[in-house]
Amino acid sequence: MLTSEKCLKLPELTISLDHSEGDLCFVSHAHSDHAAPLHSRKPVLASEETIAIAGSKKQPHSHIGCRLIDAGHMLGAKQLVAEYDGGVFAYTGDLRLEAGLTSPPAKIPQADTVLIEGTYGSPEWKFPNRELVFLQIEKWVSQNRGSNLIFGAYEVGKAQEIVAFLNKYCSIVPLVTPRMDKICSIYEKFGVKLGRVNIESLEGQEMLSHGFVALLPHNRVNFSLASTMKSAYGRDAKTALVTGWALREQFPVDRAFPLSDHVDFEGIVQYLRESGAKRAVCTHGEEGVIAEHLRRAGFDAVALFELGQARQLTLLSSEMGEKAQAPAL
Ligand SMILES: [Zn+2]
Repeated sequence: MLTSEKCLKLPELTISLDHSEGDLCFVSHAHSDHAAPLHSRKPVLASEETIAIAGSKKQPHSHIGCRLIDAGHMLGAKQLVAEYDGGVFAYTGDLRLEAGLTSPPAKIPQADTVLIEGTYGSPEWKFPNRELVFLQIEKWVSQNRGSNLIFGAYEVGKAQEIVAFLNKYCSIVPLVTPRMDKICSIYEKFGVKLGRVNIESLEGQEMLSHGFVALLPHNRVNFSLASTMKSAYGRDAKTALVTGWALREQFPVDRAFPLSDHVDFEGIVQYLRESGAKRAVCTHGEEGVIAEHLRRAGFDAVALFELGQARQLTLLSSEMGEKAQAPAL
């Protein structure tokens, strides 16, 4: 049984999903809002990549009837697929259906019940094709060769994807922060080659006095940083962010590119259709809003926090599903 505490209760034990309350803890990927069990005393179900990126020394466990499959999102990201009550349950964690430069695409399992993430879970979130965004960034880099360029990105996952992009599309070896550099080294241990220079190394300091492309944490990159860089290095400086939120939000940078490592609403619908799920439970983001949109699209969907009222909502959702059939997505 799936509980509103984000646990899968099996007869023999409880598996918690991206938190530390269960007898066994599934960790979908290494981002800090998911990886707490790796720093607890609990046994974990997680990929070797996730354990390494999170800086843990744990040995991964396994459990009969449970398997981990690719989730896209970042290196090592997995979904949990578990057999229970004669059916199949899948928990996606953060999910990306398209292949990245540093991680494979998500697999879509056959499942009866899916607990699905919905960071961007309403129909107005529609990401452009990844390749198109890469070409936009390549063009921007090429047009600004005379300036120092500073990209803002999360240091774990997104930064490594941008390093791979700069290597492959622009033949650029960027400067990165020590933390980004450390995570890049772990990616390389798992076979993902990433050309970059630690900004604090001697080579990095040397590169600063010439033209450079650098990656810094996203919350430090803005017009004020560009102005400081311009004074410090006597060269024009331009800033960019790479985030899904760029589709709808304004940021104090020269360009914001909508490259996301999450599914958009259409991706969630595609996943649910192809998985054959009879029921979708939504988590992450505005769970209630996502569930409502999915019911309008004809799915039997509830938010995780609504699970206690599931019977009532199932009745409501099947009525809404019938009404929504004609204008479905
Ligand atoms: Zn994540």
